[in-house]
Amino acid sequence: MLPLLLISTLPAFTPVSYTHLDVYKRQTSRCCKLVRELGLLALLLATELLRHATAAGRKLRGREPERGGARTMPAPPKPPKTAALAVAPGKAEMMVPPAAAGIGLPLLDLPELALDRVLEELSPASLAAMACVCAPLRDRCSADALWERHLRAKWGHVLGATARKEWEAELGARGTRASATRPARRRSWVESLACAWPFSWIAGRWLKADAATVTPAPAAVAAEPAPAAPPTDTVSAWYRALECGEFWFPAQVYNREDGHVGFVLSCYDAHLRYDRRTNTFTARYPPHGRKPAKEEDGVQWSRVRAPPVSTPAHDLHASDCLEALRPGDHFEIQWRKNKDFPYGWWYGVVGHQGSCNANLCRCHEDDTIVLEFQHYAPGSRWRQTTVSRKDHRETGDETDGFYGGIRKLQTKDEISTWRRFWPVDVLN
Ligand SMILES: [Zn+2]
Repeated sequence: MLPLLLISTLPAFTPVSYTHLDVYKRQTSRCCKLVRELGLLALLLATELLRHATAAGRKLRGREPERGGARTMPAPPKPPKTAALAVAPGKAEMMVPPAAAGIGLPLLDLPELALDRVLEELSPASLAAMACVCAPLRDRCSADALWERHLRAKWGHVLGATARKEWEAELGARGTRASATRPARRRSWVESLACAWPFSWIAGRWLKADAATVTPAPAAVAAEPAPAAPPTDTVSAWYRALECGEFWFPAQVYNREDGHVGFVLSCYDAHLRYDRRTNTFTARYPPHGRKPAKEEDGVQWSRVRAPPVSTPAHDLHASDCLEALRPGDHFEIQWRKNKDFPYGWWYGVVGHQGSCNANLCRCHEDDTIVLEFQHYAPGSRWRQTTVSRKDHRETGDETDGFYGGIRKLQTKDEISTWRRFWPVDVLN
């Protein structure tokens, strides 16, 4: 009865304790959250033990599963209370492990809103583990609202609108490929989860149960059709694809080819793939003219940002800040070496005219805007350039490169992020 004892001592998943959840949330802390998550793991462990005990007992009694209908599994003591938890009887009995059904998980007895609040408290890894318990919890734990929060928290500052568009296109392409060539066996929800989190001792167990439903025994084929493939157009599917490194997403990388002096204080478009083992990215930069695409491994999170504008790397950005630029303003400007190359964004500060009277500066009234790149030494050809305030298009030549659109940096965060990459030595 140890498993039952364990379950009965899980304070986080009982209705009584839940009434104080809001209070807990205010008062607590990571410690309490850890306790709750340990409670979840204990619950899963207990369920697992009961499952084995039930199977062993049935074997000893020589009982065989009934044919011609669903498997012989004891029904839960209470039916689910909410519509969201009410699944088709056949599907529920097929997917719910015997132990979970037999003991009637206290979690599933919670009111719908209470259950939602409990799930909101779980980390992605715990949420994924919870999804492995049974079909009703799998459906609950894959809700978009739950994963949107995790997606924003972990990936929000590196994913932009373009990344979402490319993910949607990827889904469309996957659908086309799937209809053209039927894979031998599609990856299940649980298999995808297992690649992302070190829950092999749990996921592996549930994976077997899941695989059994995907490939039923010949005698059971008629009675137990394979379950529908897991949905791919969900936020949780996107989160998994990112976490597992299955999706190359568009973003921008500061100081590309880290250490390359030619790219200091720039930010270039790339496609990135996450490597969960190293918690870094592989960046793939597009070809520069006839120069082939390049890849860079080990790109840290701090060097990646979501593109701040939707302008493609080969297009001129429409500058909408020229009238407002004043000396001391921070900006980034498109620059490319020649017209076959994509633009990168380069950091600079608006400077003063050579004729400026320091006591009575009127540079903001002049049509010419002085753009300074102060990480280059005075006298360097890269130190300074000028653009027209009223009539700025792409300017430059094959020697000094081409300067494109400008965007003024609006926040201290943006400026401080750029200045984190300031070189130790002045460049020439
Ligand atoms: Zn001035």
